[in-house]
Amino acid sequence: MNAGRRIGFGGPLLSPAEGVAGAAEARARGGAAAAACVSAAAGTAAGGGPGSGAGSGGRGPLSLSRASLMSLAAKAPLSLEILRPLKDLTSFRIGGPAALFARPRDLGELAAALAFARAEGIPHFILGGGANVLFDDQGLSGLVIRLSGKFRETRILDGDPASGEGAGRIHAGAGARLADVAALARRCGRIGFAALKGIPGTVGGALVMNAGAYGTEIGDRAAAVEILGREGGPGPQEGAPASGLAGAARVPRRRIRFFARGSDLEGRGTVLGAELLLGEEAPAEEILRAERETLLARRARLPQEPSAGSFFRNPEGQAAGRLIEECGLKGERVGLAQVSPRHANVIVNLGGATSADVRALADKVRGEVARLRGIELVPEVRVVSCRGEVLP
Ligand SMILES: Cc1cc2nc3c(=O)[nH]c(=O)nc-3n(C[C@H](O)[C@H](O)[C@H](O)COP(=O)(O)OP(=O)(O)OC[C@H]3O[C@@H](n4cnc5c(N)ncnc54)[C@H](O)[C@@H]3O)c2cc1C
Repeated sequence: MNAGRRIGFGGPLLSPAEGVAGAAEARARGGAAAAACVSAAAGTAAGGGPGSGAGSGGRGPLSLSRASLMSLAAKAPLSLEILRPLKDLTSFRIGGPAALFARPRDLGELAAALAFARAEGIPHFILGGGANVLFDDQGLSGLVIRLSGKFRETRILDGDPASGEGAGRIHAGAGARLADVAALARRCGRIGFAALKGIPGTVGGALVMNAGAYGTEIGDRAAAVEILGREGGPGPQEGAPASGLAGAARVPRRRIRFFARGSDLEGRGTVLGAELLLGEEAPAEEILRAERETLLARRARLPQEPSAGSFFRNPEGQAAGRLIEECGLKGERVGLAQVSPRHANVIVNLGGATSADVRALADKVRGEVARLRGIELVPEVRVVSCRGEVLP
C-alpha cells in the first residue's frame, strides 16, 4: 500500500485512524472547513457505517492545492476534471467540489480510473444520476466516477432488435437512465417498467437502491447484474456477462439480496450493467395509460423543490412520512432545508440549503420520532462523507 495521501480543500484532514479524538484538534488547526470534513470521516470510523456502494479505500493525508490537483490529474491514465461542483450533479443541488472527477466511457477506462485511485491511495465514489445522494459541503476529497459512453447504452437481447417485437429481455448499461429503460420496454410492448416511470436516476443507482414504486421494484426485473469487484479486478466469476465485458462478473439474480430500497450490491463493487426482464406483454394504449397514471400520481404526491426523494426508509409495517407527520414535523426547518409540507418524508432544499442544514434537520426528525414513537428511522438517502464513505 502507498503512503497515505490526503486531498483537502484548504485545510488538513484526518485519516480514520486518527478518529474522533483528533477531530477537535483538527478543528483548532485546520479551520471550520476542514473540521466539518474531519468530523464526518471520524463519525464513520467510529460508527462503522455501511460503506459506499462503490467502495472507498483512500487513506489520506495530503492537502492539495489546485496546482497539485492538476499535476495529479495529469498523471492519470484518463482525462480527469478537478474541483467539479457536486451540487451540479445531484437532484438535491447540494455539495462542495469533487477533487477529481472522471467519466469513463468503457470498462478499460473505468478499470484505469479505479487502478489510479488505488495506486494514489485516494478514495473513490461511483455516482449514478445523483438522485439519492447528499454530498458534504466540503465536497469529496477523492475521485468521483460517473459512468458514460458505452455504459449508457441499452440493447434488446431477444426478439426483433429493430422493432422490439417479441423482446422480453434487454441489456442496460449501469449509466443508462431508468427513463430510457422504461421507454424501451414500452417500445417492446411490455408493461413491466410502467410503475417505475418518473423515478430519476440510472440503472446502476436503481439496482443498488432497489428503486421501486407502486408495488414494482427493479430487483424483481433483474435477471443478472454485472459487477466489477471492489479491487477493480474481476471479482467472483459467476459467468460471462451478456455485455461481453472482459474482467467483469455476471451475478445471477439468486445471488443478489434485494430489500426495500436497498440491496447487497452496495459494497460489492461497481455495477456495470444488467440483464432486465421487461414484464408482461400489453397493448400500447394500456402501457401508455399505466405510465400516465404513474406520472400523475407522482406529481400529486411529490414536492417540486430539489430533493433526493424519500429521505428515510419505511420502518417495518409503517410509513416514515406518516410517522414524521404525526410527530408534528411537517414544515420543520433548519436553515434552508425543510421537511416538505407536501410529503413529510421528503426533505427539500428551499434554495441554498447546505448539507449541514439537511443533516441537522434529518437528525432532528430522527430524534423526535425516536423520542415520541420509539422508532429509529434509517436514511434511504446515501449521506456521503468528504472521504466518500456512506454515513449511517
Ligand atoms: C424527485 C425524486 C423522486 C424519487 N422517487 C423515487 C421513487 O419513487 N422510488 C425510489 O425507489 N426512489 C426514488 N427516488 C430516489 C432515486 O431516484 C433512486 O434511489 C434512484 O434509484 C437513484 O439512482 P441514481 O442513479 O441517481 O443513484 P445515485 O443517487 O447516484 O447513487 C445512489 C447509490 O448508488 C450507488 N451507485 C450508483 N451507481 C452505481 C454503480 N454503477 N455501481 C455501484 N454503485 C452505484 C452510489 O454510490 C450511491 O451509493 C426519487 C428521487 C427524487 C429526487
